[in-house]
Amino acid sequence: METRKVYLDNSATTKVDEKVLKAMLPYLTNLYGNPNSLHKWGREAHKGVDKAREQVSELINSSPNDIIFTGSGTEADNLAIKGTAFALKDKGKHIITSAIEHHALLNSIKWLKKIGYDYTILPVDQYGLVDPKDLENAIRPDTILASIMFGNNEIGTIEPIAELGTICREHGVLFHSDAVQAAGHVKIDVEKLPIDMLSIAAHKMYGPKGVGALYVRRGIKLTPIIHGGGQEFGVRAGTENTSGIVGFGAAAELAAARLVNGEMENETRLRDKLINGLLERIPETQLTGHGSQRLPYHASFCVKYIEGEGMLLLMDAAGIAVSSGSACASGNLEPSHVLLACGLDHATAHGSVRLTLGHTTTEEDIDYVLEKFPPIVEKLRLMSPFYDKKNKN
Ligand SMILES: *Cc1c(COP(=O)(O)O)cnc(C)c1O
Repeated sequence: METRKVYLDNSATTKVDEKVLKAMLPYLTNLYGNPNSLHKWGREAHKGVDKAREQVSELINSSPNDIIFTGSGTEADNLAIKGTAFALKDKGKHIITSAIEHHALLNSIKWLKKIGYDYTILPVDQYGLVDPKDLENAIRPDTILASIMFGNNEIGTIEPIAELGTICREHGVLFHSDAVQAAGHVKIDVEKLPIDMLSIAAHKMYGPKGVGALYVRRGIKLTPIIHGGGQEFGVRAGTENTSGIVGFGAAAELAAARLVNGEMENETRLRDKLINGLLERIPETQLTGHGSQRLPYHASFCVKYIEGEGMLLLMDAAGIAVSSGSACASGNLEPSHVLLACGLDHATAHGSVRLTLGHTTTEEDIDYVLEKFPPIVEKLRLMSPFYDKKNKN
């Protein structure tokens, strides 16, 4: 019997869209010039990079010249944090962030502390929301930067970016947001939002892995963290990943079209069907993150008495890809820092499972998951000493 294959781990990475691949292929074959070369080969490659810069900028309504291509979302985060810290070291050395950021962010800031910088980590409420008042109270005369993510990878919560950015602007503090999970899935307009820097990555929006971008508002000077040639406006050296960047551009254009024609509404509907269906079918399970202020493709839960890894493995055997916590945290005995920051106890946090839909997820896929998942939980619970104990009481 053929089992259905359902990939619900789109927060970890997405499948490259056929149209994206088609746009990339010429740059891996005939259009192989170095975009920095002045001859025809180089000019052709350069044209591809220029077009992609426009496509990516249109997704977030920035100027193409405010887009710096990087080697990943991680690198975009590193550049925003370290590039600002180094550039403004004479102004101040204090950075503010939240407890639920991606490790690309948190570990960059923690590393800076070793070389004389300082930071404040803001708490979040049970839904993973940062309170703008906490941000305002944390700002000091030496604060140079605040970085709060747009949408969280583990719990899907969308932060109050407009309010947070406004507070930063009022206090003359730069504001960066990691939008790697949000870009291409929710509308982001950097002209309307008080955002100074924004990180995005192609592989979380049906583009290739190994290419990201940092939006940097005009006038902001960053100190490079990679030195070499003068590529990317002198901010990020290294011969451009031409095919990757072209794929990023194509993915951005397709995502922008999906946002305009309302495809996210269907994804949100399927997400809610999944969330409500699982909460109905599996007792003693809670949604993690915010109920409505949430990424349109993101469902995440804590299932009591069992461990996320067990669910992941049995779901995998049923042909369904999910994750427990974040992919990077797998193999780590400590439960996710995000769930702990939301106030969950260790035992509950260990039962975390994340199901993230894609634009090709179907109603049948969701029905299949709603059929397969509850008996898997029941099976694991019957083997769990914690579940037994409770039933005996
Ligand atoms: C995936 C992710 C990153 C890292 O991006 P890579 O391109 O995989 O390095 C950073 N932040 C968030 C929120 C992410 O989900």
